[in-house]
Amino acid sequence: MFDKIVIANRGEIALRILRACKELGIKVVAVHSEADRDLKHVRLADESVCIGPAASADSYLNIPAIISAAEVTDAEAIHPGYGFLSENADFAEKVKQSGFVFIGPNAETIRMMGDKISAKNAMIAAGVPCVPGNNNPLSDDHKKNLKLAQEIGYPVIIKAAGGGGGRGMRTVHTESTLLNAIAMTKAEAGSAFGNATVYMEKFLEDPRHIEFQVLADTHGNAIHLGERDCSMQRRHQKVVEEAPAPGITEEQRRFIGERCAKACKDIGYLGAGTFEFLYEKGEFYFIEMNTRVQVEHPVTEMVTGIDIVKEQLRIAAGEPLSVTQDQVKIQGHAIECRLNAEDPVTFMPCPGTINQFHMPGGPGIRCETHIYNGYKVPPYYDSMIGKLIAHGESRKSAIARMNTALSEIIIDGIKTNIPLQHDIMNDSAFVAGGQNIHYLEKKLGIY
Ligand code: ADP
Repeated sequence: MFDKIVIANRGEIALRILRACKELGIKVVAVHSEADRDLKHVRLADESVCIGPAASADSYLNIPAIISAAEVTDAEAIHPGYGFLSENADFAEKVKQSGFVFIGPNAETIRMMGDKISAKNAMIAAGVPCVPGNNNPLSDDHKKNLKLAQEIGYPVIIKAAGGGGGRGMRTVHTESTLLNAIAMTKAEAGSAFGNATVYMEKFLEDPRHIEFQVLADTHGNAIHLGERDCSMQRRHQKVVEEAPAPGITEEQRRFIGERCAKACKDIGYLGAGTFEFLYEKGEFYFIEMNTRVQVEHPVTEMVTGIDIVKEQLRIAAGEPLSVTQDQVKIQGHAIECRLNAEDPVTFMPCPGTINQFHMPGGPGIRCETHIYNGYKVPPYYDSMIGKLIAHGESRKSAIARMNTALSEIIIDGIKTNIPLQHDIMNDSAFVAGGQNIHYLEKKLGIY
């Protein structure tokens, strides 16, 4: 196992990784921006290095500064967390070239999965079901594109091969708007992702978002930990996640899960990863793979009892997975509510000082947050300030526990989305389960 690693991230995930390191006896170097000196994990780390000014581009995305921090502190590996450089193949490559271990898959795999077209083609080859589409870059041949859309059948969606974060997509319902939509998505993709390549696939009208967690080691083992339902979304951003997905049978879980595990072996995947699917009318359609730990990983941890971050560290250190597929058992139900520093009605970010914070508790409650009394939420980063996770023997008991925890938690001084989360937990359609990705926006009156 490693003696010392660098955590190249901030906030709740940096604290989460630090906790896993402490359990495994790994020393931690926290790298942080000038605005983040008071982050909880920075205080708890064995060493800390300031890597630049508040702006992410100058700090958390500053590759030379992060690698220098690993060099001066004599660390062995770098954990990228999620967001920032976690899916940046050049970063993974430079980390390795500088003599450190990147805690994640190798750069070639990240590159392949980062391009949605090559990812889709790899999945088709591995027998993973995908959304019907052309699976190739769209050419400038208007006639060909019009014919293609007709073959796929409207509505279609034009997606940027290098897209992410719910951006770089455009839905087309009629032939008259197709060519313009392709041109606009291309232009946007070029400026936003530095890659103007776009492709076309069938637009699924009312799907659910269901994703499978996988783990793969250097010893040829690859397993899946079942699925999560992340259909409660606003602007393609997940708001509530749960495991298992309501209504998914053991047979479906095994069928898709085994294909994901096999795909990991086929592409030489290493570490923790997620296969994201849209699920409609009983069928799964792969949309993309995330080659990192996800925000919502705790719901899987709660129902399987497997510590995904510790597995990431073990895998990166060359150790075999600590569990076999047969040992993975789904127990009970877990729900996660993301806690954002934002106005619950307008969704405007709401940075500021937290005057009072009371953490909820009780059986089955887990609170993943870096905030504390007096902590100042900076305006420079994502507005997520934590996650509340409730586990119960059934979905009903998990919702009941979440409701209690949401009533107990106190975050004073800034606005948060806690009222919205409370509302969702008491929404009869959410309580029934199995809503599609448009449900929340319809409820909010914005879809
Ligand atoms: P990103 O990398 O930006 O997250 P994804 O490919 O994962 O992009 O898609 C994000 C979201 O966009 C999905 O969760 C879904 O809501 C919507 N979406 C993507 N592809 C389709 C599709 N073919 N049909 C319907 N909705 C889609």
